[in-house]
Amino acid sequence: LQIPNLTLNDGASIPQLGLGVYLVEPGETQRTVEEALAVGYRHIDTAALYGNESEVGAAIAASGLARDEIFVTTKLWNTDQERPAEAFQESLDRLGLDRVDLFLIHWPVPELGTALGAWRGLIDIAASGRAASIGVSNFEIPHLQQLLDETEVVPAVNQIELHPLHQRRELRAFAREHGIAIEAWGPLSQGKSDLLERPEIARAAAAHDRTPAQIVLRWHVQQGTIVFPKTVRRERMLENAALFDFALSDAEMAAIDALDEQRNFGPDPFAFNAR
Ligand code: NAD
Repeated sequence: LQIPNLTLNDGASIPQLGLGVYLVEPGETQRTVEEALAVGYRHIDTAALYGNESEVGAAIAASGLARDEIFVTTKLWNTDQERPAEAFQESLDRLGLDRVDLFLIHWPVPELGTALGAWRGLIDIAASGRAASIGVSNFEIPHLQQLLDETEVVPAVNQIELHPLHQRRELRAFAREHGIAIEAWGPLSQGKSDLLERPEIARAAAAHDRTPAQIVLRWHVQQGTIVFPKTVRRERMLENAALFDFALSDAEMAAIDALDEQRNFGPDPFAFNAR
């Protein structure tokens, strides 16, 4: 596979495309991740919440690939914001790794008021060398602003719900201004909408002889967004990675830009406080 690397604000490289394993059953995760690595994926996005870090680690160990060939992200769950160091070590132990490439605060949980302290914990983890990069997920502008105001370290990434029906223009402009890379979760809207059936997508798919999913994923990567669509199927792993040998025209990009409904399918980051 031909997958470009992007450079984060701390100088680290990240493959622009990876595999997400949210809702991949633990029993299916090792096979899925092994298959992804075998076809050429080099970036895996997991989280403590997903309950499959051990299986991700087992797949990495079984792959025979050198550790520095694979980019691994995991995330600090909400209930662990007051114990980031311990929770991080538990994730490393489950993964069977001595470091990850990217560690994220999963949600801001403003109701708890502990995200800033958690961020200071992540800064210490990065300083220890056990997370090459650190960042956040589901942070809105005020949540990012607090970290910028109160600490010296700008998050390397913000991983947010992002797809053509929910384009987050203001948040993305803020991130760009501050050198924070954007990772899209739910890049295909998680199968919760008719996005892949929209005529604007179908027209571009026909014009390029690609699938609707490839058109939507190309729209993401053509703007510099990092994506890791979830699938457990080998043929879709290949399909979802074949994005870097064609380009959408300005008119096709504009037609997809026009689909924005500011419509999220996941939780509202200002309110989400799941424990
Ligand atoms: P997604 O948009 O990647 O959608 C996944 C769904 O799309 C699956 O049901 C799959 O069957 C289908 N699909 C995949 N490839 C397809 C194709 N080529 N054609 C048609 N359908 C296809 O949604 P997601 O899994 O929620 O998001 C991707 C990753 O983002 C997750 O696995 C996880 O790693 C991460 N994520 C993070 C958060 C967060 O709060 N930080 C939340 C959700 C997901």
